[in-house]
Amino acid sequence: MGKSGKTTDDFAKLSVDQFYQALKTQATGLSDTDAAKRLQDVGPNTIQQTQSRSQFKAFIKNFTSLMALLLWVSGLIAMFVGMLELGIAIWAVNIINGCFSFWQEHAAQKATDSLKEMLPTYTHVWRDGKTKQINATDLVPGDVFTIQAGNSISADARIIAGNALQVDESALTGESVAVDKQPTYHKGDGKFAEANIVYAGTVAVNGTATAVAVQTGMQTEFGQIASLTQNQQGTVSPLTAELNRLTRQISMIAILIGLIFFVAAIFFVHYPVAKSFIFALGMIVAFIPEGLLPTVTLSLAQGVTRMSKKHALVKELSSVETLGETTVICSDKTGTLTQNQMTINHVWLPKQRYQVSGQGYLNNGQVLAAKTPVDLAQAPDLALLLRISGLDNDTEIQPGKTAQAKPKILGTPTEAAHLILTEKSGLNLDELKQQYPRLEELPFDSDRKRMTTIHRQPDGQQVVYVKGALDGILAICDTILENGQVRPITATDTANIDAANKHYAAEGLRSMAMAYRAYNGLPSDPADCTIEATEQHLTFVGLTVMADPPRPEIYDAVEKCHRANIRIIMVTGDSPLTAKSVAVKIGIDSDQVRVITGDELAAMSDSELQAAVKGEVIFARVAPEQKYRIVKANQHNGEIVAATGDGVNDAPALKQADIGIAMGVTGTDVAKDAADMILTDDNFASIVSAIEEGRTVYSNLQKFLLYILNSNVPEAIPSVLFLFSRGLIPLPLTVMQILTVDLGTDMLPALGLGAEKSEPGIMDQPPRARNAHLLNKTIVWKAFGWYGMIASVLSTVAYFFVNYLHGWPNVALAASGDTYVMATTMTLAAIVFCQIAAAINCRTQVTSVFTIGLFSNRRIWWGIGFEIVLIAVLMYVPVLQGLFNTAAINGRDWLLLFSIPIPLVLIEEARKALVRRHLA
Ligand code: ADP
Ligand code: MG
Repeated sequence: MGKSGKTTDDFAKLSVDQFYQALKTQATGLSDTDAAKRLQDVGPNTIQQTQSRSQFKAFIKNFTSLMALLLWVSGLIAMFVGMLELGIAIWAVNIINGCFSFWQEHAAQKATDSLKEMLPTYTHVWRDGKTKQINATDLVPGDVFTIQAGNSISADARIIAGNALQVDESALTGESVAVDKQPTYHKGDGKFAEANIVYAGTVAVNGTATAVAVQTGMQTEFGQIASLTQNQQGTVSPLTAELNRLTRQISMIAILIGLIFFVAAIFFVHYPVAKSFIFALGMIVAFIPEGLLPTVTLSLAQGVTRMSKKHALVKELSSVETLGETTVICSDKTGTLTQNQMTINHVWLPKQRYQVSGQGYLNNGQVLAAKTPVDLAQAPDLALLLRISGLDNDTEIQPGKTAQAKPKILGTPTEAAHLILTEKSGLNLDELKQQYPRLEELPFDSDRKRMTTIHRQPDGQQVVYVKGALDGILAICDTILENGQVRPITATDTANIDAANKHYAAEGLRSMAMAYRAYNGLPSDPADCTIEATEQHLTFVGLTVMADPPRPEIYDAVEKCHRANIRIIMVTGDSPLTAKSVAVKIGIDSDQVRVITGDELAAMSDSELQAAVKGEVIFARVAPEQKYRIVKANQHNGEIVAATGDGVNDAPALKQADIGIAMGVTGTDVAKDAADMILTDDNFASIVSAIEEGRTVYSNLQKFLLYILNSNVPEAIPSVLFLFSRGLIPLPLTVMQILTVDLGTDMLPALGLGAEKSEPGIMDQPPRARNAHLLNKTIVWKAFGWYGMIASVLSTVAYFFVNYLHGWPNVALAASGDTYVMATTMTLAAIVFCQIAAAINCRTQVTSVFTIGLFSNRRIWWGIGFEIVLIAVLMYVPVLQGLFNTAAINGRDWLLLFSIPIPLVLIEEARKALVRRHLA
């Protein structure tokens, strides 16, 4: 129920006058000032998130995880058995850790939220009697706006004029069959059934309409539903699922180890139960990978932020992961691989050739010339072609605001090129439009690949202009215009035209055919002309030939894909010859590539297609719907497929693809809705950057995992020594110290690893297998057998060394209070300094850290700095000394500690050098 007290559907049955009155608006729209006032009153047209409650829940969740519960209970037990300080400390650590996790999740959420603002939806409204593009959030009730196929509808609105509008309402009703909408009122039965109402949150898939907004924002039907279902949880990504499983498995193992230690402490060391429990707890906490999930989420979110800076907006964190696995990219040609900066440089008529010269936009004058400027009065065929090119055209070029500013193209570059061609020849478009007013249009679609308009000539006769893909148009031409004469088209003509087309296509140029039809035999009212009836018996006029240069970045991007074992399959509506020539030129395919046309594809069985997509292949003259089959066939072969698209009909393919990629500039709202990722620059190279980023994020997660796992070993070994010596060797690392490393000093350097830049060579490896595990054997081995072992040895040596200085093997002396505290302090500090080395070592897998720059990741060094400060605080602040069983150490000890990382880094560098030599 809106401010007006009416529901959206109440507006359906009002008479038009009543309707305008109810909304205090008119057919020509609101004024800017009125709209601004209304915006003040009703607020922005957005679905607000009522998040306060779920925020609180999210906060609490961090204190109710398995590990957090363990810590709460342990703290409680410690307090009860008289170790009050220990209990408080455990609780404090638990709280700090929970807050940190919450902060991480919050930061990740903020990063993903900010992406939404980078992709505004626009609406074309009538304000002050003029059309104007506004941000959909500024739409107010009473606004008159236009809807086109491909638009998402941003408010509940009543249709006042329409042309074959069809709307996909599945977001509201779940029904995926598109619904017809029209201006006249038919009482629908049930909700969302009114034929003259469109609802916010749905999308137009066909036709056009003008509509008046009746409700916006939370007042829309969609807003009402959204407020009910807002607490919905997002889907769980495969990575999250794997991490959850991993955390659970490791936790079970940790608890098992804890149990063994608990029993052993009671029977071997004869500890009292409570003390044994606290002891076992140390082991459990050491092994549970707490903080793993929030850290992973945060690094994924940071990956998403980095991608957005490289023009790739990802909607879900899980796409980052899938991107890294991509094995095949099905890419459009025009605008994605090429610049979509069309320039017509040849015009081909059956008996004449023209070269188009002259640079820049709209420089009027005689620049259409072979050698000498052409007098159009002497060249009626050319004049007709120029009319078709300028009038059978829906694009508009608005001059720039200043003389220097580039003119703005409202429409497509292909059509803009045609407008410019006409203007360059000295014709005045505005005059032409008056002399040949347009009566009707059969709009372009990517299935027919042509468009048609019907005009009235100065002599009062009607005429049909057609422009589009050559093959399709030739098939419906039965005559040809040559030197001013119309005569039946012969096989020789067709052969000549084909030869010309081949000649141009071989240079990567795309030709478009122009044809016309005298109005004979068509219904007298142009509005009754159907596509089938009109687009036949045409007269062929000529070709316009366009250059669309490849994007300069494309060569590198394609090269990178090849090195990274990612295949590129070009899927285009353009002609086979042009497609092949471009693909070969930019290095996607060799000269031997197989080109399959849409017609051939339609005749292929699924298994034939699956076999075909295994090799080098291009799809040309395909309809967007066919892209879906190509994606499926690749997936059937086990490929992870990224596919690009921009139109309404691309949506099924985008949804089916593992990564659907929509064009941010030229794409429709429908395509953007269906996609997982949106390119803000429509550039293929940005896909490759995103894949690289996806791989980087994953490899950073592995680095991070390696880092946090390896400290478990030196945390556990001291307890093992203690147990196996039956308590003879006093516990080298206390529970509080284990917590310190695990929940304190390790955290920040680990975060730094998540922000590591791509390791050189990351795009020289094949994509990782879909079933590969984050935690693989190499990592387990490295963590426990290599890094972990070295750290254990060093920290144990530190322990015994201090004891030795104080009289070991005189155990009594060594166990005396002061020595013991000194020794455990050194054990703890040695582990921390081993972790410093580990943070540096984990940054690369095989590359030398000196190659990527020892100091190139600032966050790691901030983390390391924090680690050292924290440990120093624990050693020197008296209150904490008691809690953490620490003591001040002297300069010699510090020197010893600071020297630990050096050999560790050098040993690891030697290992990496060996691996590199082995790989080379
Ligand atoms: P691509 O897959 O390369 O993006 P499109 O789907 O944009 O190709 O276009 C396919 C074919 O449709 C083009 O080769 C051209 O012949 C024709 N075409 C494109 N734009 C128009 C237009 N505005 N009017 C008529 N025909 C067009
Ligand atoms: Mg296209």
